[in-house]
Amino acid sequence: MTIPTQPFVDGHYQAGGGKPITLINPATEETLIEVSGAGEPAITAAVESAHHAWKSGWRDLAPGKRTEILFNVARKLREHAEEIAQLEMQQIGKPIADARDEAGLGARVFEYYAGAVTKFYGQTIPVSSGGFDFTLRESMGVVAAIVPWNFPFPIACWKAAPALAAGNCVVLKPASLSPLTALKLGEIAHAAGLPKGVLQVLPGSGSTIGDALVTHPLIRKISFTGSTEIGRHIMSLASRDLKRISLELGGKSPNIVFADSNWELAAEKSPMSVFANTGQDCCARSRMFVERSVYEPFVEKFIAATKALVIGDPAKEATQIGPLVATGQRASVEEFLADARQSGSTFACGGNRPETKGYFLEPTVLLDVGKGDRCWREEIFGPVVAIVPFDDEVEMLEEVNASPYGLSGSLWTNDLSRALRVSRAVQCGVLSVNTHSSVHVEAPFGGFKTSGIGRDLGMAAMEGYTELKNVYIAS
Ligand code: NAP
Ligand code: MG
Repeated sequence: MTIPTQPFVDGHYQAGGGKPITLINPATEETLIEVSGAGEPAITAAVESAHHAWKSGWRDLAPGKRTEILFNVARKLREHAEEIAQLEMQQIGKPIADARDEAGLGARVFEYYAGAVTKFYGQTIPVSSGGFDFTLRESMGVVAAIVPWNFPFPIACWKAAPALAAGNCVVLKPASLSPLTALKLGEIAHAAGLPKGVLQVLPGSGSTIGDALVTHPLIRKISFTGSTEIGRHIMSLASRDLKRISLELGGKSPNIVFADSNWELAAEKSPMSVFANTGQDCCARSRMFVERSVYEPFVEKFIAATKALVIGDPAKEATQIGPLVATGQRASVEEFLADARQSGSTFACGGNRPETKGYFLEPTVLLDVGKGDRCWREEIFGPVVAIVPFDDEVEMLEEVNASPYGLSGSLWTNDLSRALRVSRAVQCGVLSVNTHSSVHVEAPFGGFKTSGIGRDLGMAAMEGYTELKNVYIAS
């Protein structure tokens, strides 16, 4: 397996000329490899070449041909799935079983949008003046996709695939901690027949590359996944020339368990709804609300299920929880834990580093957390959950919706009317009932309130990569 070390521009790897990035394997704390970051000339070359590729071919390619190429990309991604999974595991410490699932998910996203190219229609509108009126969904030009390190490969795919399917060219900026699988995507997609320049991949620091892309006059849309703080920054820069934006940002998602539900099953399943990916998940169900009559037995079962999780070497098939992505990420989670200790929360389990190399941290269950505490209010992005009891549905929902975030949520009940009522009341973009499943390739994914603007996945994402044109012909 060759590990990519340079930006992928104009159909091949080339020197970036920017600051090098040293990648560290978070499970071993050893240096993995150095990647050349993209400097100013590489950024300009990537955007200009993407614009040229759009104008001179990709935009006007017959839809059936675009479908064929994107299906080829999906096929090649499946052929290289193990290589992608291994790279992901090494660069961010993702357990290999999850990394394999996510490599497959990336390929599935390309399959979905390959098929979507020829099923993406406009409308004919019977305007009152007569004549003939119809709409077109037109590509925008060059899209900048800026992605985070927690699900590097699938998120890169779920931004690139719909943007390409809609006829745009893409400049992809992976997070500094996770450039390898994004670079592989560029290489594999071009080997599968994507014309030169249609997808460029620029590793490098967000503050330089990010700002250069967001302010570049040839970029028409920025599709970003990351923190709410950087999302705000991008939105304000994009306002200068009214670039289109979609932002998938942070979360502090609720997990609501009613006594009428199969709460034993909820207790068994819920630890992975917050601890999967070591809690570094924007959809992590980090605030649990449990109806008081089942609170104590629920907590007991939840803790038992948490203690049974397999933590350790991400290269092992059975591992469920790997390390945090970097030493800084662990330090930031530990600051939250120090705050919880100070404010008198009960540590029902976890809270410490296991005695092993790597940036590991035990899954931590907090009880007696105050509504004003940082661990209750803020996104921790680590393996920490707070569980509180509730008595009254209305009051509980007020607290659920008091969060400035609104990304995802789970609800456990066997009462159909309650399921419908509460599903409508929770202010979030993605809600799951009697499960924690948040991501479906075919369905829209994104947040309310400070969790974002716009949607990834489904046909909603493809709409978001087009401008809507109305054409009226007099008769
Ligand atoms: P981040 O700091 O916002 O970084 C995300 C991406 O933005 C990275 O590629 C980063 O590059 C880049 N970036 C940094 N500064 C930038 C700037 N000034 N202009 C443009 N781009 C810039 O977030 P993160 O720390 O990687 O990820 C954690 C956050 O992402 C959490 O808050 C989480 O909730 C959120 N997230 C949300 C979703 C969702 O779908 N809603 C999914 C995953 C993660 P560098 O790596 O080089 O700094
Ligand atoms: Mg950051």
